[in-house]
Amino acid sequence: MDTIISIIGGGISGLFASLELSNAGFTNITVYEASDRLGGRIHSVPGLGNSGKRLDLGAHWIHGRGGNPVWRYVQEEKLKLSENASGDADGLYLLPGGIEIEDNILEKTEKVLDKIRDDLEELTSEDVGFKSVGEYYDEKFQEYLNENEIDSERVETMKVIFNWFRLWDMADSGTGDMKLQSVSSWSEYIDHSMEELDYEPNIENGYQVLVEHVYNKIKDKVTVKLNAKVNKIYWDQNPIQLEIRNSESNSLCLVASDEVIISVSLGILKKHHSTLFQPKLPANKIQAIEELGFGLMNKIFLYYDQPFWSKDNPGVQLMHKTKITGKSIINGGKYGERLELW
Ligand SMILES: Cc1cc2nc3c(=O)[nH]c(=O)nc-3n(C[C@H](O)[C@H](O)[C@H](O)COP(=O)(O)OP(=O)(O)OC[C@H]3O[C@@H](n4cnc5c(N)ncnc54)[C@H](O)[C@@H]3O)c2cc1C
Repeated sequence: MDTIISIIGGGISGLFASLELSNAGFTNITVYEASDRLGGRIHSVPGLGNSGKRLDLGAHWIHGRGGNPVWRYVQEEKLKLSENASGDADGLYLLPGGIEIEDNILEKTEKVLDKIRDDLEELTSEDVGFKSVGEYYDEKFQEYLNENEIDSERVETMKVIFNWFRLWDMADSGTGDMKLQSVSSWSEYIDHSMEELDYEPNIENGYQVLVEHVYNKIKDKVTVKLNAKVNKIYWDQNPIQLEIRNSESNSLCLVASDEVIISVSLGILKKHHSTLFQPKLPANKIQAIEELGFGLMNKIFLYYDQPFWSKDNPGVQLMHKTKITGKSIINGGKYGERLELW
């Protein structure tokens, strides 16, 4: 089929879309990627030192097995998995000063939070009077503390653990504030089966291996253009016209396309929808782009000559009493802005 298909964005969504379409028999597919590399928010870079390992600046874990399409692809294509995979929240829970939290307080608090979480799965926003997940959690946890006689020192430790799990949930659901997370969309989130294992798989030598693998499958069938930023989409024309800037030659061109797939991030859509789409998108689509939100997530890499932790210990969780403000701590000018748009 020679339908002209343009895919905007050479991240994993754009690449997989091109693979699916090519497998379905389409022969005229072009992926336009604004940057000089494929992968987008998947970005494995060489680590420091001589380990020969790569660090994942972006995606790292395959979140669940079961019906997860990434997991299915990795299995079908027999991609090698890392032996160093870790589970969620494994290992030591340390208070400031390296004080280990007693197992029984940890287990008790986890049990209370698991119950709140399980109850939430069954609820809609309407059931909880349109409270947010954050408000629901706060209320139920406080109810538990009020209904049980617990000495004040223990309550303080439980609150620290509660605070930590709230931060965990923020990272997991990609919000900067659990009070912005609606109960209905929380319960719609699909947790893929872990298939009896208690850790999430990592791809050996970085998530980029997945990008490289998909690229190798499409490279002879699909045209991939790097440094090709789509500036404007004249979507009411037939065929659709795309205005593309080549950042190497700094030249502009117009290309015609029968169908267009847009796989750029929500951040890019938020920033550019008013100029990217010519004419402007319908009001309901603009509203969806503007009202959907996400938080900022940072990864910090620490480099040591030798591990200082025991080899049997799968992780260290740092617990602290810092209040969650929900405010971004990065203020890095254009670099900070670029990170936030990731
Ligand atoms: C720090 C971090 C950690 C993460 N950890 C995990 C994890 O452990 N497991 C997991 O499953 N997921 C994780 N994610 C999420 C995962 O990385 C993303 O969901 C996924 O990579 C998104 O892929 P995508 O193709 O949809 O978008 P992107 O990767 O954002 O790709 C979009 C592409 O479009 C390009 N583009 C933008 N504008 C234009 C334009 N105008 N013209 C042409 N091209 C354009 C961009 O350069 C980019 O390459 C993480 C994300 C981050 C940021």
